Amino acid sequence: MAATPLELRPLGNTGLKVSCVGFGASPLGKVFGEVSESDAIAAVRQAFSLGINFFDTSPYYGRTLSEKMLGKALKALGVPRNEYIVSTKCGRYSTDGFDFSAEGVTRSIDESLERLQLDYVDILHCHDIEFGSLDQIVNETIPALLKLKEAGKVKFIGITGLPLGIFTYVLDRVPPGTIDVIMSYCHYSINDTTLEDLLPYLKSKGVGVISASPLAMGLLTESDPPDWHPASPEIKAACQAAAAYCKEKGKNISKLALQYSLSNKDISTILVGMKSVKEVNDNVSAAIELATFGKDQETLSEIERILKPVKNQTWPSGIWQS
Ligand code: NAD
Repeated sequence: MAATPLELRPLGNTGLKVSCVGFGASPLGKVFGEVSESDAIAAVRQAFSLGINFFDTSPYYGRTLSEKMLGKALKALGVPRNEYIVSTKCGRYSTDGFDFSAEGVTRSIDESLERLQLDYVDILHCHDIEFGSLDQIVNETIPALLKLKEAGKVKFIGITGLPLGIFTYVLDRVPPGTIDVIMSYCHYSINDTTLEDLLPYLKSKGVGVISASPLAMGLLTESDPPDWHPASPEIKAACQAAAAYCKEKGKNISKLALQYSLSNKDISTILVGMKSVKEVNDNVSAAIELATFGKDQETLSEIERILKPVKNQTWPSGIWQS
């Protein structure tokens, strides 16, 4: 692996410096297929050794399995706690649905910390808030998270979800500095760049930007997406055509997609879901290659042409309407 270090970028006003490639741990919950415990631990170890310092999970991923696996893997690293940044989430659960109540999220963090074998998490996100009442998030959930911050269980507060309007709705209604980061997903990759329009607003608020799912949750890979993938048949077919085009040209769609997402420096970190040492190696190499040689613009333009009919198309999520 190249000696060039993985780029670190500031995360809003948090003072944290996150690796530009972050480790999405939902695959450790077997969300994208089988993963053995030893492969999960090896993937996390390899990621850390190659300069990835940011790891994201949730109690929702694999019915808490992702948090447990990540906890074991981080412990196995045997390095000081301040050398890695961990985010988990609250409010969305695979067993009980959604619960953004103050009582629920306060209980949730204690359970998460136990599974993760940690004393604190760097970031606690309210998970997929478009499924709840945004007014409850503003008036009840965020105040409860502020208390967790005071108690030292959480360093920073975030919100996540799919519709981009949720972020402005909440950020416009809380005092500046209350929400430290947002996590958007599937809105900054070759097929969908709608997050771009929100970046100046987020920057003006000093909010750190985490963009997840650069591979569109498996659409921009050479494998089939998981059965649960919510994209329309048109989006799936266009992504499949783009992947086939790349393969024919001896290129890899996942590498190009990750490089495309990493190119926007107003985004602090791109969270990729990883479950093997190979994926970690490929993704870190893609980032280093980008930093050294720049983007493969010729192939990217061709992929953009193939994806144009579905550009910026998404899918419904949650109960919130703008
Ligand atoms: P992703 O776009 O990162 O794709 C993950 C899939 O691509 C997995 O199947 C993975 O094994 C595969 N993959 C990874 N690297 C590859 C490579 N080099 N070549 C081929 N395949 C590769 O989607 P994701 O995992 O859903 O998103 C990343 C992370 O972001 C999640 O793990 C999670 O931590 C976070 N996330 C959060 C939310 C939310 O808060 N609502 C939503 C989506 C994702």
